[in-house]
Amino acid sequence: MTPYDTQNIFAKILRGEIPCHRVHEDDQTLAFMDIMPRAPGHCLVIPKWPARNLLDCDPDVLAGLIVQVQRIAKAAKQALGADGVTLQQFSESAGGQEVFHLHFHVLPRWDGVMMHRHPAPKAEMQTLAEQAEKIRAALAAL
Ligand code: AMP
Repeated sequence: MTPYDTQNIFAKILRGEIPCHRVHEDDQTLAFMDIMPRAPGHCLVIPKWPARNLLDCDPDVLAGLIVQVQRIAKAAKQALGADGVTLQQFSESAGGQEVFHLHFHVLPRWDGVMMHRHPAPKAEMQTLAEQAEKIRAALAAL
C-alpha cells in the first residue's frame, strides 16, 4: 500500500499550517467543515493518527473515530434541523478518495433534497463559520 503522505492537506490542517472551521477537537480526533459542502453542514471527521484511509487505519483508532463520527452526525443533524444523515468514506483513488488522510464525510440530509454532485461550489467562509458554531453548540448539549 502507498505510504502515508505527510504533506496531504488534512495533515497540514492537523499541524495548524492551514486553517479550518473547527467543529470538535480532542487528543485523538478533529472534525471541521468541508469547504466544498455537498449539503449544508457537511463536516469531515479525521483521526490525528496518520492513516491514509480506512484500509491502513489501526482498528483501535478506527473504533474511537467512529464514536466521534456518531456524535458529529447527531449534532450536525440537530444543529441544521436535518431529517437524516449520510456518511461517506472513500479509500484510494479508485474508491473516490482525493485527500489521502482518512476521513468520514458527515452530510446532513433533508427529505426529498438531493446532495450536490462533486465537486460542489466553494462555500462562503461566513456560512461555514456560522454552521460550525451551531454544531459546536449542539455537541455541547448532547
Ligand atoms: P475525498 O478525499 O474524495 O473523500 O474528499 C475530500 C474532501 O475534502 C472534499 O469533500 C473536499 O471538498 C474537502 N476538502 C479539500 N480541501 C479542504 C480544506 N482545506 N478544508 C476542508 N475541506 C477540504
